[in-house]
Amino acid sequence: MKSLRVGIVGAGQLGRMLALAGYPLGVHCLFLDRSAGTPGAQVAPTLLGDLEDAARLAELASRSDVLTFDWENISGAALKPLETITRVRPPRAALEVSQDRLAEKALFAKLKIPVAAHAAVESKQELLAATRKIGLPGVLKTRRLGYDGKGQFVLREAAQIDEAWDAIGAAGLIYEKFQRFSREVSLVGVRSAAGETVFYPLSANTHGGGILRYSVAPFAHASLERTARLYSKRVMNALDYVGVLCIEFFVVDGRLIANEMAPRVHNSGHWTIEGCVTSQFENHLRAICDMPLGSTRALGHTAMINFLGKMPDLERLLAIDGLAFHDYGKEPRPGRKLGHCTILRRQSRDRNLALAEALRLIEWA
Ligand code: AMP
Repeated sequence: MKSLRVGIVGAGQLGRMLALAGYPLGVHCLFLDRSAGTPGAQVAPTLLGDLEDAARLAELASRSDVLTFDWENISGAALKPLETITRVRPPRAALEVSQDRLAEKALFAKLKIPVAAHAAVESKQELLAATRKIGLPGVLKTRRLGYDGKGQFVLREAAQIDEAWDAIGAAGLIYEKFQRFSREVSLVGVRSAAGETVFYPLSANTHGGGILRYSVAPFAHASLERTARLYSKRVMNALDYVGVLCIEFFVVDGRLIANEMAPRVHNSGHWTIEGCVTSQFENHLRAICDMPLGSTRALGHTAMINFLGKMPDLERLLAIDGLAFHDYGKEPRPGRKLGHCTILRRQSRDRNLALAEALRLIEWA
């Protein structure tokens, strides 16, 4: 029997796009989040409460055939009791490891997936020692709860140690060697409970200030794609993973260096909504509901542009042939992800066209 009631912890734009992908499949999503105005609550029913409120989580779990996540930072302790109520997918172990950059790098290293040289930092003295051991420049990051470049400081010289410590200093940090990458790419993969895996083409991602600005896909590079798939399969098999997993990589001297993973649908996979036969959102639902996985074939070349801080003019963008517009229904705030658009160009020779149009749009956005 198919599981058709999906509980989603967190009702942000990822949850919203999951719920929207669920309707044609007959999947009914129920969210848990703090307010009724969230992107998800605008499109599907929502329980109101704190994301780690034990009673609310138990209620969500008891009303769901399977529980999944828009927000992956829920603690293992809050999750554990829910496993006796319903199925939790992706599994708790995947969330726990991805919540701590140090644990994540340890897993990658154990699975022989290259990572940047790094060290745990608990004090200013340890930061000094780490910069000496690993070298400069480097990036000091909070191990937990960092996202979109928050909780990060790039150290270019030793004289910045005090400044870095004042900016984010606390226990629970990691210092990483700065990667002089030629590209950033990500791989979105999907695994079913039976162990079947499918992968989307690699996407090439451009960040500004630590936030994803735009992605272009497919990033056609056969050998990098093969390697990325191999790495992703190792991670998914090790965690007995179910659902969508995204791994972000730096390309350094033609090699992949894993940066981080997200145990959920990912911003760098939004292009798959229009750009592939089956979107990452639909495939996540298919995987966690034990439905057959859908084709991940790309339909052409796609550029995806994030709208940060303010929404661009709708009419102007809708006049562009092949453009799809996504508004998450959020209040504007500086730097906040409010929506995105994709431009799909079906003919392969149009690869640069989609990118050029995307770049022009970024100037407007
Ligand atoms: P993260 O939160 O780790 O995904 O970092 C956000 C962005 O900051 C990355 O996508 C990179 O553009 C940049 N960044 C993070 N870590 C490093 C690093 N070790 N070397 C160079 N750039 C980095």
